[in-house]
Amino acid sequence: MKITSEEGMLEFGREFAKNLHAPAVIELVGDVGAGKTTFVRGLAEGLGVKEPVTSPSFTISKEYAFDGGVLIHYDFYRLQDPGLMLGDLEESLSDPSAIVIVEWADSVAGILPEDRTRIEIKYLDDGGREITL
Ligand code: ADP
Ligand code: MG
Repeated sequence: MKITSEEGMLEFGREFAKNLHAPAVIELVGDVGAGKTTFVRGLAEGLGVKEPVTSPSFTISKEYAFDGGVLIHYDFYRLQDPGLMLGDLEESLSDPSAIVIVEWADSVAGILPEDRTRIEIKYLDDGGREITL
């Protein structure tokens, strides 16, 4: 699927939220600037999260409550060793009310469930993005 604007990416996230039920795990794959956080913003909106979503790069994880669950967003960018965050992630993965989204999952791939959804976002030469599920 091709998405050519920020608004299109937000809409994709909102639509994706409609078919999403906790517990769920989503792995987001794409270069810096691909649109991963934009997707999460749309997804959060679709779930009914009221606060603004920002990139968790410095805190590694951010949590957003919504009616009936919690969205937990991880970003392991540049982390060779997730350290204490591994236990934190394990706890989130065992929470039946959690929708867990993980960016740069390489260092934690071993503990993610096999049945996660993987969403890949690729830059296109024309400035748009190609989305693969
Ligand atoms: P990431 O989290 O992957 O680093 P961001 O979500 O911060 O990327 O998006 C980076 C930039 O790309 C933002 O300015 C955003 O508006 C823009 N963007 C996101 N999705 C698209 C798209 N499908 N087409 C064009 N621009 C996009
Ligand atoms: Mg980001």
